[in-house]
Amino acid sequence: MIEIKNGRIYFYNTLKPDLMVLDFKCLSAYVCPACKNVLRAYFVGSIIPESLKEYMEKDTMKYAYEMGNTQGAQWLALRDHSHKECCRWEVVGAMSKGIENSVKSFIEIHNIKIKDTQALMTAIGTDKMPGFKRVFDETGADLPMLLFKESDLLNTAGMTFEKKWELLRDLSKTIDSVLRSIGMHN
Ligand SMILES: [Zn+2]
Repeated sequence: MIEIKNGRIYFYNTLKPDLMVLDFKCLSAYVCPACKNVLRAYFVGSIIPESLKEYMEKDTMKYAYEMGNTQGAQWLALRDHSHKECCRWEVVGAMSKGIENSVKSFIEIHNIKIKDTQALMTAIGTDKMPGFKRVFDETGADLPMLLFKESDLLNTAGMTFEKKWELLRDLSKTIDSVLRSIGMHN
């Protein structure tokens, strides 16, 4: 398991009591609020892929992280497809940080054509936009990341099948309609 607590990153495995607990000073870390997995971490220390594997309690997580070194510290990042296997929220734009950059990536990735990008950024930045979640850096050092879950975007309760179909096949239209419904644009 990987856990972030009080500015430190811990590696431990409750199934292997003989395995030494590792802990390092954490410079930056993001934890998914939905599945509680560490999405990204940057820390002063070193762990090699072979030993990280030992700390993973679930077999499916043994190769779930990418890692590397930069400027004397180590980073690790949960692979998108590994996150998808255990969570319904997806990280928007793996390398984007901050709401503005993440929204720009989101628009590019999904080929979105909405009327007012700024309104979407404002709605996300004030937690008014369903389907999007900000994830803050645990150490407070870096800008937030962004998560997206399409099925949370639209409350389809009480909507006719035709209306639902019209909106769901067109993400741009859906986002415009949600922005309107929360009073972010006309
Ligand atoms: Zn998650």
